[in-house]
Amino acid sequence: MDNQSNFGQRQMVQGDWKCSECKAEIKELPFEPDGDRPLFCRDCHRNRKGSRPDRNF
Ligand SMILES: [Zn+2]
Repeated sequence: MDNQSNFGQRQMVQGDWKCSECKAEIKELPFEPDGDRPLFCRDCHRNRKGSRPDRNF
């Protein structure tokens, strides 16, 4: 009966990681980290995206 409330919601993975950039604590991620890739907090993630010149207007 409650199936619909979960539908379409992004699954967050709870954990205890550190941002590779600013060493901030990361408590949850929208994906399962494989331990191989560097992890970024929300701020650094946005900064990395924003630092790229985007000419895709
Ligand atoms: Zn960070």
